[in-house]
Order: sequence, then C-alpha cells, then structure tokens
Amino acid sequence: MRIILLGAPGTGKGTQGKFIAEKHKIPQISTGDMLRESIDLKNKIGITIKNVIEEGKLVSDDIVCNLIKERIRKKDCINGFLLDGFPRTVKQAFCLSKNKIKIDYVLEFIMPHQSILERISGRRIHLQSGRIYHVKFSPPKNKDKDDITGEPLIQRKDDKLESIKNRLEEYKKTHHLLVKHYIYEKKIGNVKYFQIDAMNELSLIKEKIDMILEK
Ligand code: ADP
Ligand code: AMP
Repeated sequence: MRIILLGAPGTGKGTQGKFIAEKHKIPQISTGDMLRESIDLKNKIGITIKNVIEEGKLVSDDIVCNLIKERIRKKDCINGFLLDGFPRTVKQAFCLSKNKIKIDYVLEFIMPHQSILERISGRRIHLQSGRIYHVKFSPPKNKDKDDITGEPLIQRKDDKLESIKNRLEEYKKTHHLLVKHYIYEKKIGNVKYFQIDAMNELSLIKEKIDMILEK
C-alpha cells in the first residue's frame, strides 16, 4: 500500500495520515517532520533550510527528493508507506517515477483557504511524537499538554500568520500542475486518485478514507 496525501497545509493530512499508517501498518513519511528534525539537529540540511521553512517557502526539490529516496529505501517501507507533504511539485512527482517508486493511491484533501487559516493558527503539536492537536477542534485533555506524556505542546514557528500566507501562496503556485499530473496518471491506470472533502469532521473523513482504501 503506497499512498500519497496531497493538499494545502492545514487540511488534515498529518492527522489522517496517522490513522492510515496505524491501520495499515506502514510508516508515515512527512517531509515537513523530517526537515524540522534536521533543523533541531542543526545538521547541514537543517542549517540551509531553517529560514526557508520559517518564512513558509518551499525547500528545494533536490533536498526533499534525496531525503525521500533515502527514506523509502529503509526496511520498514517494504510493505508500503504513506507520503505526507511530498510531492509538492511536478518535479518531485517525477523524482518518484524516475526512481521506479510506484504509487497505488493519491488522496487529495480539499478545503477553502479561508478555513485553513483557523485550522493552522489553532494547531499545536507535541514535538517528540508528532501528535497533532487543535485548540478548538481537537484539544488536549489538559491545556497545552500532550495527552500521553504530559509534556508541553508547541506552536510551529511557521504556523504564524505571515508564514501561513506564504505557504498558501506557494501551494497555489504548484498544486494545479501537480493535480493535473496525477489526474493524467489516473487516466492511464497508474494510480487510484480520490478527492477528500477536508471540511468534514475527523471521524467522517477517516471513514471515507477507510472505504476508499478497502476498495
Ligand atoms: P496538515 O498535515 O495537512 O498540515 P494537520 O493534520 O496538521 O494538517 O491539521 C491541521 C490542524 O487542523 C490541526 O490542528 C488538526 O488538529 C486540525 N484538524 C485536522 N483535521 C481536522 C478536521 N477534520 N476538523 C477539524 N480540525 C481538524
Ligand atoms: P508541512 O509540515 O508539510 O506543513 O511542511 C512544512 C514546511 O516544510 C513547508 O512549508 C516547506 O517549507 C517544507 N516542506 C515540506 N515538504 C516539502 C516538500 N515536499 N517540498 C518542499 N518543501 C517542503
């Protein structure tokens, strides 16, 4: 089961990705998480991309493609994987096909951009585990504390208004061609492609995805 989740930032890919990965016992591979980890580790990639991420711009295709190629070679991907936040450009999509990485499902999360702002500005995360909360839609049991460890939740640096605007602008520039690419791939029978109404409640989206992946 090799799955791609497409969609603007804040549409719920990470949240649903966790459910899918758990149910199908495949790793959830988020380029955003991998890049944030590099920043925390202050390694070469981390130092190069820190400002790009905080401003909400896209990291170069070469950096993310190399990260993904290496990650997918690992043993835990043998029965499949879920890509969350990759590809974001057609060049990144071609990086998969050029490396003979076949994809079974592409799920595109769709939501009006006005609602995305509320989703992202209320997002809080537990950095160590990647658990995702929302102050209104998915609050932790205790304010600003992770449900499992009790450790503090944080707001991502790029979840501030100015960065969010840039991230949505970046998304608008690239997503149209990317979707066109996968609609073509669907037409020629290379992938199964579905659109998900990301405005629905968490549980409803989860059910819809379960149904799609059981087909
Ligand atoms: P993405 O991975 O696409 O950037 P996230 O999964 O991090 O998005 O979700 C963004 C925010 O919206 C999080 O705070 C999350 O708790 C919340 N969220 C996700 N899905 C829903 C939903 N269906 N309804 C309400 N809030 C949601
Ligand atoms: P995300 O966690 O998916 O919201 O990604 C956070 C940030 O990481 C984005 O705003 C980009 O700066 C960077 N990023 C993540 N994935 C990619 C990608 N596939 N291509 C380019 N930049 C990416």
